Amino acid sequence: MQDTQTVEKPLTQFKSKADLHQDINIGVQVSGEWSVTQIEALFALPLNELMLKAQDTHKSYFPEGDVELATLLSIKTGGCPEDCSYCPQAARYDTDVKAEKLMGLEDVLEAAKAAKAAGSNRFCMGAAWREPKDRDIEKVTAMIKGVKALGLETCATLGMLEADQAQALQEAGLDFYNHNLDTSEDFYRSVISTRGYQDRLDTISNVRAAGMSVCCGGIVGMGESRQQRAAFLARLANLNPYPESVPINHLVPVAGTPLAEQKPLDPLEFVRTIAVARITMPKARVRLSAGRQELGRAVQAMCFMAGANSIFYGEQLLTTGNPEAEQDRELLAELGLKTKQSCKTEVLV
Ligand code: SF4
Repeated sequence: MQDTQTVEKPLTQFKSKADLHQDINIGVQVSGEWSVTQIEALFALPLNELMLKAQDTHKSYFPEGDVELATLLSIKTGGCPEDCSYCPQAARYDTDVKAEKLMGLEDVLEAAKAAKAAGSNRFCMGAAWREPKDRDIEKVTAMIKGVKALGLETCATLGMLEADQAQALQEAGLDFYNHNLDTSEDFYRSVISTRGYQDRLDTISNVRAAGMSVCCGGIVGMGESRQQRAAFLARLANLNPYPESVPINHLVPVAGTPLAEQKPLDPLEFVRTIAVARITMPKARVRLSAGRQELGRAVQAMCFMAGANSIFYGEQLLTTGNPEAEQDRELLAELGLKTKQSCKTEVLV
């Protein structure tokens, strides 16, 4: 049931998780946490009903209905020692991605200026490292300070972080740190063997402890079951607090990686995943990330209807293509969606 008064209230006064469980009325015990069974029940709803619940939630928490534009720049490409099965940047896979050095400060700032001029709110810097060395942190903090001075929100994804590294990034002005859980804990080992799920959780906890906002999501369509997709979303939704940004990627199979031949996930299942993310993490920016190009306009439109309210914007993600900025602007205009104007960080802690 929609509480029409909620649009005027600050976020802290919105419905609690328990209220949302009750509203969703999926016939299972109400608690502060989402169980996998509850989330599977959401996935199993008739699509219209699921979309209605997602839209109801979205309107309550984001009455403006705006879409955030985030630009992602690969500041250090390829040569990564990790073995993520989906990733062409892993040194061990024979892909077209070649290892490059860390970009220079001036080049990063030029890219950030161009992103701002094109309308981006957030500038994300990604490096293909297992974890940064302290000398890398020094270089990246200079980039963060420079990007921040341009008036953009800053985000970085540099691999696993120690507590003191997280603190140094926060002190440089980093607003968000991205570190994806990728998938459910029980499917994780099928995709990555060079680090464990707990490593991911430890980094997220270091990021929170340093006072930064968390960007954390994953990839669907890697061969996981629906139950595993539900378990992945439960894990995200039960983080306390859940991430402010939740990027959901649709696998882009890349030649040379172990997932090169993976059969694509049904687009409607992707739409359901977005809707369930919106319902279970109502205050989060749910971001359409890699794979948008493959989804096409109609499915992207359904994803916005299901509550997606952030996109990666620009012609290139870390190593995969992205709809061109002009096409994105046209699609958003055609759907009557405004873009987020402010670069003020939305914080859930
Ligand atoms: S996803 Fe990140 S950590 Fe994994 S191989 Fe690619 S660059 Fe390395």
